[in-house]
Amino acid sequence: MNHVEDTIAAISTPLGRGGIGIIRISGNDAFKIMSKIFKGNKPFDKIKSHTINYGKIINLYTNEIIDEVLVSKMVAPNTFTREDVVEINTHGSIIALKNILGLITKLGARVAEPGEFTKRAFLNGRIDLSQAEAVMDLINSKTDNEFKASISQLDGKLSKKLSKIRKRLIELIAHIEVTIDYPEYDIEEVTDKEIEDSLINTRDDIINIINTYEKGKIIRHGINMVIVGRPNVGKSSLLNELSGKNKAIVTDIPGTTRDIIEEYVNIGGISVKLVDTAGIRDTCDVVEKIGVQKSKKELEKSDLAVILIDASSSLQKEDVDILKSINNKNMVVLLNKIDLVDDTSKIKQDVKSIVDVDILEISVLNEDGISDFEAYIKDKFLKGDIVANDEVILTNVRHKSLLENAKNDIQRAIDEKSLNMPLDIITIDIKEAAYNIGEITGECVNDLVIHEIFSKFCVGK
Ligand code: GDP
Repeated sequence: MNHVEDTIAAISTPLGRGGIGIIRISGNDAFKIMSKIFKGNKPFDKIKSHTINYGKIINLYTNEIIDEVLVSKMVAPNTFTREDVVEINTHGSIIALKNILGLITKLGARVAEPGEFTKRAFLNGRIDLSQAEAVMDLINSKTDNEFKASISQLDGKLSKKLSKIRKRLIELIAHIEVTIDYPEYDIEEVTDKEIEDSLINTRDDIINIINTYEKGKIIRHGINMVIVGRPNVGKSSLLNELSGKNKAIVTDIPGTTRDIIEEYVNIGGISVKLVDTAGIRDTCDVVEKIGVQKSKKELEKSDLAVILIDASSSLQKEDVDILKSINNKNMVVLLNKIDLVDDTSKIKQDVKSIVDVDILEISVLNEDGISDFEAYIKDKFLKGDIVANDEVILTNVRHKSLLENAKNDIQRAIDEKSLNMPLDIITIDIKEAAYNIGEITGECVNDLVIHEIFSKFCVGK
């Protein structure tokens, strides 16, 4: 793999007003550039590694002070990129940041591409590819669980498991090749059993990791939850209650939630996309009709359909139609407005007679039953677990599909073995499986994939 020679620099903090802004420089010339523009108590060359130092950044062409700064000097290889690194803490002014970056580039550094610092950490062998991807996930994480899963991946938990599997496959290939090359040693029978056991165990280990993706997908992408119900049952009120904002219009006139309204909320560590709809029903109103069509589409792709029913009236034809039309969905009925009724057993029975579904009772008005509903969601999608720090959870679809490939390769090898096919054919599939796993960690990966992965990063990371 190429080690990149030039020096890169970027503004690593978001561009906006803030207390401080940080410029990061990495590469062979980082210190040389700094010694020309930093004026502190000591010359930059004399500053010790891994210390923070007060000083000023001076424009050497005009002798003007650009900003008062704190500078961290980090000598390779104990740095994020394994190269010489400098971080300049400026005041959080875009002008200061841009002027300093301009000066640094004038002195020979190049503005870093998105993710280039992390890419160097990977290319220089400090982290593997799956860890580099975790850096990006960490930055983008929206919930505690997502953050924890990324930290665990960055810590190398997934890498370690995969390296073990890959090592086992490579040893197996070596073992088989010995058998092929030295058939005069009569070890065929033992080897056969060993090969089979090893393949089956490896396949099962891979399947176990793949199975964590169900949870990982929810942690990473959250769930789509659609709220449906006839007009005036309290959909907008529920949406407002859950989101804690006043975005949806709440009104007494039926049918005023005209279009789809989307909100993201954090429910028990799951990012939930809430979708409020105009309700599924026949309507002559054109605007409303658009909403109704969209509702049906939203319902089809939702992870959870929440059917809101007004407990203060009897079950209406529209309620029945809704219950029937989404019969086979992953759904829950919320009986709302229980503050207005004493007994919900009749309406519950009526619902159950149409479809066997979980029913929860709530009053959005009195905020009753809302936390039970949130616990219900958490339990249903995360099985109530909070993600443990040392747990390996697959959250990345690239990793998942490569593991699926590896599993299929190994399955093919197992099938071929049971058909007594020649060992050199079987090794082709095992090699393929090892390659697919190596693509996750970056041991076997082409430049195009690497470029694709890092181009999704933000600049300065
Ligand atoms: P939507 O048409 O389904 O979106 O219904 P809204 O959220 O606009 O609510 C319709 C009416 O029902 C409003 O006047 C709400 O204040 C009222 N409402 C909503 N939830 C409750 C509740 O739990 N109890 C009572 N008594 N009224 C509610």
